[in-house]
Amino acid sequence: MDIDLSPEETAFRDEVRAFLAENLPQAVKDGAAASPTVFVEPDIGQTWNAILNAKGWLGYQWPKEFGGTGWSSVQRYLFEKECALAGAPNLTVLGLKLVAPVIYTFGTPEQKAQYLPRILSGEDYWCQGFSEPGSGSDLASLQTRAVRDGDNYIVTGSKIWTTHAHWANMMFCLVRTDTTVKKQAGISFLLIEMDRPGVSVRPILTMAGDHEVNQVFLEDVVVPVANRVAEEGDGWKLAKFLLENERGGSCHAPKLDYDLQQVEIIAKSEPDGYGGLLANAPTWKRRCAKAKLGVQSLEMIELKILSDLAKGRQPGPQTSLCKLLASNLRQEIDLLAVDVLGPAGLQLDPTRPLYGDNAPPPVHSKEAQVATARYLNSRAWTIFGGTNEVQSSIIAKTVLGL
Ligand SMILES: Cc1cc2nc3c(=O)[nH]c(=O)nc-3n(C[C@H](O)[C@H](O)[C@H](O)COP(=O)(O)OP(=O)(O)OC[C@H]3O[C@@H](n4cnc5c(N)ncnc54)[C@H](O)[C@@H]3O)c2cc1C
Repeated sequence: MDIDLSPEETAFRDEVRAFLAENLPQAVKDGAAASPTVFVEPDIGQTWNAILNAKGWLGYQWPKEFGGTGWSSVQRYLFEKECALAGAPNLTVLGLKLVAPVIYTFGTPEQKAQYLPRILSGEDYWCQGFSEPGSGSDLASLQTRAVRDGDNYIVTGSKIWTTHAHWANMMFCLVRTDTTVKKQAGISFLLIEMDRPGVSVRPILTMAGDHEVNQVFLEDVVVPVANRVAEEGDGWKLAKFLLENERGGSCHAPKLDYDLQQVEIIAKSEPDGYGGLLANAPTWKRRCAKAKLGVQSLEMIELKILSDLAKGRQPGPQTSLCKLLASNLRQEIDLLAVDVLGPAGLQLDPTRPLYGDNAPPPVHSKEAQVATARYLNSRAWTIFGGTNEVQSSIIAKTVLGL
């Protein structure tokens, strides 16, 4: 694997860097820095999406024919890295990176024409209706029923942990269309408008006080058969395709590196309690070095995946390895951020948002105000998109042959 950039790639990186320096608004950057959740709220996220869309860079992972950039895997990586290092918010991936590839790979021409432009324009905001009470890791056991009635399905059931369902106007959803076959074979993939009669959303507040996830109830919701992607019974195949993108579709290392750098900057002005600075304390330096090595190892695996993709190979179980390592590092770095700030890092302000004119005044600093909320929020990393135990099992079976 060659990790040196060509002159063209260096020029591309410089172009992205210059664009970010000019076009990433300070308010968006501040909002991202003060958001404890994985995805920022739409007022921040959609503003940033619109700026990228105006430049033609929002569909940076999409093929050109669907309004994407058609960039190479190296260009996509450089773009993600520069965005992370500039402090840009995480893009809300639900429409852009999860359902869009399903639609442009498996959708009908009508579905492609209807949904893809609206993802880029921000007219549609998507949520993911996979998990149910009782069906998380064992997703194939899902119970939400879709019964055929002429040209429609009648959908009944409930989805849980549905991120940003309270903002979304569209949900991609796994439903059971056949109860007589093997459980994986009876699942279909539907696109459901959230304003259809019978859809309701109940908030779930997470332990830091954030409203990020929800329970979605579906009571006799009429969904046209035309809203099904691929054939009836193909849902499991599409779900596996989508989950592989969710676990390995982005490079996590650059953002983790940026956050670790922020912690290291704070340590340069925080006392160690013995008359020196924390940044010089051996135990602290050891913890930071361990995290840094972890981030660098993750970056190498992510680059290996990119290199495989560039050669037309599917990454396979390497995406599970990335998800596992990135989740553990996320939690480690968020713990470092709490620890570096001492008692000030323990504040937990329940007010939201923590950015903008109405944000409560911080004690000590903005970083301190968000540290514990972010630490609590990042507990979710080892759960969503497949838990650490599930990723470990995949690695054990497919890589280690256990
Ligand atoms: C913040 C957050 C956001 C989320 N957003 C969404 C979303 O937008 N859409 C969506 O559909 N879902 C979402 N999820 C749900 C997420 O995908 C599930 O929580 C996850 O798949 C785990 O399922 P579960 O919660 O039912 O736990 P369970 O599957 O019940 O697992 C409980 C425990 O048992 C362990 N376990 C289960 N099975 C095995 C096994 N075979 N081997 C070893 N250990 C096992 C698990 O690792 C875990 O520790 C989100 C979750 C969180 C926390």
